[in-house]
Amino acid sequence: MSQYAKPLANLIRELSKLPGIGGKTAQRLAFHIMSMSEKDAGALSEAIVKAKKELHYCSICGNLTDRDPCSICEDQKRDRSRICVVEQVRDLVAMERMKEYKGMYHVLNGAISPMDGIGPEDINLKQLILRLQDPEVEEVILATNSTIEGEATAMYIARLIKPAGIRVSRIAHGIPVGGDLEYADEVTLSKAMEGRVEL
Ligand SMILES: [Zn+2]
Repeated sequence: MSQYAKPLANLIRELSKLPGIGGKTAQRLAFHIMSMSEKDAGALSEAIVKAKKELHYCSICGNLTDRDPCSICEDQKRDRSRICVVEQVRDLVAMERMKEYKGMYHVLNGAISPMDGIGPEDINLKQLILRLQDPEVEEVILATNSTIEGEATAMYIARLIKPAGIRVSRIAHGIPVGGDLEYADEVTLSKAMEGRVEL
């Protein structure tokens, strides 16, 4: 039996489902939320509900957006000849922070991981292949993470699209092995992009 009143135990349980939040942190967050004003706590819960309701994946690139297509896909000033493939929306955000890359993106929303039973059909890959039918596309830049899953995914995609005659490149590994793209600083990321090698 929990030593907490039911609603509090409930809140702690829900918070502890978040990544990186252990029981102790969930407890601390729950007590913090309880100390917040009704208005602030309401704004927090409303933000969660609203984001869940209004955001969806862009039907073209897989980015999280409140409109379709997303603002990047819609931006006519961007270079449509290059598509940078990333695993997660947060990786796209990291790339955008760099402010150098002006091409398009494709978010896989996952990576191939046979160990976890995640195959090519479980990630946003079909849509990428469809996009490559556009003659404007000249290069696909594989910017998946340098983890085993990220590498396997990059290799799989490279093999899949090379026969189509599209240039396929892999970002350089300035990024520490096993490191997530999202944690790379702008300089590292920009160097990784610059030093990309053709596969
Ligand atoms: Zn998009």
